[in-house]
Formats: sequence, structure tokens, C-alpha cells
Amino acid sequence: MTSEERDGLRRIRRWRLWAWIFLLSYVPMVWIVKRTTHSDLAVAPFILVWVVGFVRCIARLAFSPCPRCGRFFYSLSGTPSFFNVLAHQCTHCGLPLNADRVIYPSMEG
Ligand SMILES: [Zn+2]
Repeated sequence: MTSEERDGLRRIRRWRLWAWIFLLSYVPMVWIVKRTTHSDLAVAPFILVWVVGFVRCIARLAFSPCPRCGRFFYSLSGTPSFFNVLAHQCTHCGLPLNADRVIYPSMEG
């Protein structure tokens, strides 16, 4: 495993984490803002920020190149796709997302 592969996997994992944070924070965020402001209009800027952040995370994931083979990590074809963003390995070469965290490579799946 080269340092470029390790950095690439780390970058993909970071964008995945942010996508999950955005996804899971929507309902609590809207609830808290509505509860504290008692206004539907006050929620609009938060929803706008949420949508922009979430779309950015998903777009970064869809356009993420695999650090080993260079093709799109989550795309089955040559075009970027977000349909497989839950995959835990490269859809082309099978590089696991946590390959740099495996302590004993012989035990790797
Ligand atoms: Zn690959």
C-alpha cells in the first residue's frame, strides 16, 4: 500500500463520514431550529446550507477516483455515479475502503 493509496482512501472515507453527518443531522437540525425560533422562515437558510453540503459530499464521492486503479471508486461504468456510494470497496479493482487499516494483510477478506 503506497502513501497515495492511503491518502486517497482516507479522503474517500472523510467525504463518506461528512455525507452521513449531513444525512443524519437533517431532522434534528430542523427540529431544533423550529423549536427555538418558532418560525418556518428561519429554517430556510439551514435547509439551504444542508442541501448544498449534502450535494457537495455526494458529488465528491461520485467523482472520487480509486487510489489504486484511477477509475471512479463508486461507478460501475466510466461515468461518475452515486448509486453505489454504500459500497465498501472499489467497484473496479476491489480495493477495500479500509485496506490501510488492516493490520494483518493475510487476514484481509
Ligand atoms: Zn480501483
